Amino acid sequence: MLLTVLGCSGSIGGPTSPASGYLVEVEGIGPVVIDMGPGVLGALQRYASPETATVLLSHLHADHCLDVPGLLVLRRFGPEAEHAVRMPLIGPSGTAYRIGVASSEEPGAVDDLSDTFEVGSWEVTPDVELRGDDDEVALRVRADRVDHPPESYGLRLTSADGRVLAYSGDTAYCEALIQLAAGADVFLCEASWTHEEGRPPGIHMSGAEAGRTARLAGVGRLVLTHIPPWTDSEAVRAEAAAEFDGEVMLAEPDLRLEV
Ligand SMILES: [Zn+2]
Ligand SMILES: [Zn+2]
Repeated sequence: MLLTVLGCSGSIGGPTSPASGYLVEVEGIGPVVIDMGPGVLGALQRYASPETATVLLSHLHADHCLDVPGLLVLRRFGPEAEHAVRMPLIGPSGTAYRIGVASSEEPGAVDDLSDTFEVGSWEVTPDVELRGDDDEVALRVRADRVDHPPESYGLRLTSADGRVLAYSGDTAYCEALIQLAAGADVFLCEASWTHEEGRPPGIHMSGAEAGRTARLAGVGRLVLTHIPPWTDSEAVRAEAAAEFDGEVMLAEPDLRLEV
């Protein structure tokens, strides 16, 4: 399983990175994109064909999903539109409606995405199997609710050869994430703040909390992500490294990791 960071800037796109978006490639199926914030569709074009991508959304904050309307335009009107196939778009409840509103041409209208996307819901189907042409399962995805204001999910991806990538999505420190990340080879974890007094509860994690989660989950490698442009990333990394003995990396655009 190959992970490529397309964008990792927290909360908004930054001067050196798009907002959240990650490409996952495994044998047997087309590209899988986790989150698609502003700028991610452009970065994706450097690595894979967006026409055949499966898109998994952790939640529907703008910084995680607002390049999906662009992907819809590409599939509907782009040079490959004639051969377009419907690809899975899986997210929280209301994904079809919210992306449909963002894609509409008139106030109050909702674009019908069903010509280009097969929309699924984590709430209805938290366990998803992505199969190749040979009908073998190439990637298993498990979603679980995490602690963030809208309906938000962390994801656990397991390849056919048993490698595991865990992704926090956006979340405060929570037990569900420790369970979801248990024993993961690579843990892609948000750390939006340093561990200072006065942090609002139930939104994001500090570097210290990301490191603690990695330690309690017993992961192999910790990759810190979703650090906003105004947060000191080296301070976040130092906090995480003080809690977790394993390798701690900062996500950066175009980072490619064999999971
Ligand atoms: Zn975010
Ligand atoms: Zn969020």
